[in-house]
Amino acid sequence: MSSPPPRPIPAELVRSFAREMAQIPDAPHMLQRLRKGHESDQHGWCSHPTHAYRWERHPCATLRLADLAEVARHLALGELDPPTITTPSPTLK
Ligand SMILES: [Zn+2]
Repeated sequence: MSSPPPRPIPAELVRSFAREMAQIPDAPHMLQRLRKGHESDQHGWCSHPTHAYRWERHPCATLRLADLAEVARHLALGELDPPTITTPSPTLK
């Protein structure tokens, strides 16, 4: 009996999303809108209303995802060298 294929780890899902974002011509404006309002308060928490019931440290996951998508876009456009992307730990499952 064969085992089911391994499910993608979260880092692979994020990279896949970022690659898709890299293909969207309007991505810079989308990323700008995504980052809007995600500022650090005086205590280092993200102040965006979306975190009102589940606080997140600044930079929050939304900002980190936007940064990853932006790096992927620059890579796809040949504006960066691949070593600038760090690979998350394979222990994340
Ligand atoms: Zn935020």
